[in-house]
Amino acid sequence: MKPKIWLSSPHMSGKEQTFVNEAFDTNWVAPLGPNVNGFEADLQSYLNEDRHIAALASGTSALHLSLILLGVTYGDEVICQSKTFSASANPIVYQGATPVFVDSERETWNICPEQLEIAIKDRIKNGKKPKAIIAVHLYGMPYKADEINKIAAAYNIPIIEDSAESLGSHYKNQNCGTFGELAILSFNGNKIITTSGGGALVAKTKDLKDKAVFLATQARDNAPHYQHSHIGYNYRMSNIVAGIGRGQMTILDSHVAKRRANHKLYQEAFKTISEIEFLNEPEGHFSNRWLSCILLDSKDRREGLRLALEKENIESRPLWKPMHQQPIFKDSPSYINGVSDDLFERGLCLPSGSNLTNEELDRVIYTINMYFAVC
Ligand SMILES: *Cc1c(COP(=O)(O)O)cnc(C)c1O
Repeated sequence: MKPKIWLSSPHMSGKEQTFVNEAFDTNWVAPLGPNVNGFEADLQSYLNEDRHIAALASGTSALHLSLILLGVTYGDEVICQSKTFSASANPIVYQGATPVFVDSERETWNICPEQLEIAIKDRIKNGKKPKAIIAVHLYGMPYKADEINKIAAAYNIPIIEDSAESLGSHYKNQNCGTFGELAILSFNGNKIITTSGGGALVAKTKDLKDKAVFLATQARDNAPHYQHSHIGYNYRMSNIVAGIGRGQMTILDSHVAKRRANHKLYQEAFKTISEIEFLNEPEGHFSNRWLSCILLDSKDRREGLRLALEKENIESRPLWKPMHQQPIFKDSPSYINGVSDDLFERGLCLPSGSNLTNEELDRVIYTINMYFAVC
């Protein structure tokens, strides 16, 4: 069996261990400490000095705290992009609220402005104004931020920006992760940078960050004994994990460049295969190309290619199955135009890691060319 080629695997810079060793040398193994502060400062200077970052245990915990900070509670409704990973929507249910799913548009594959406005109007007509909108820059491609912001502002609904897949992307020169009232990042193992597991919340005010940190550290009131007047969570990032993050920040831009180069290589390699369609960057959109995705003519063709790659020990994955099609969310209201269903049927994510070697990329390209040569 040939060695496995992964969709997106961790890629260390070599500097991570220095920060982690420092934590050991100073016995700063417990939560908080210089690496947490340093990682937050690195993220702040990368994204925007006016933002306030809280390093957390995961992207999911950052989404959960975002909903709590916006006052989402039992019986509320929250709009969420349907074409996403389930972690975008699960925290809505943790709060006892109802997700309302909205379909995508074709240009970025993200939340559709028309469907969004239809959904907001309809929910208001039904008696409940949505408490928040979770919009996602899926696969690193920025959503149509101008259009989405305009609608959110018109109805005065805050946006939670799920930037888990889009660190390093930007829209009209503004970094992804700085559009929403609150934004979240993920440093899970498959993301563009990883801390083995981790996340962050990006807030527009220091007050929101401080509240997030308070809730993330068991909501301890200011007293010598353990005193609590809020339900707390254990969601903070540890000082060891943050050390990995500091090392990863030193190579973030080169990871973006390599992932974009992978995408370009695939585009070049398959330009004579008319069936293969790519997602191009609309004007003003800069994608980190976290994952390189293609569309084929049909579900059968997509599945045929996936199995042909699997036979060669190459990992690929259908585009994310929309939330409105997931068994767990089958009873949730949804506003559907057919785009995300179509993308799910015909779309495939190809190996996209920043550590792919030329030899591995050649193997992927060869396998795909062979599939189209014989099928
Ligand atoms: C990875 C991911 C998350 C969750 O992040 P974790 O750090 O794994 O909890 C949320 N949303 C999207 C779109 C993701 O890809």
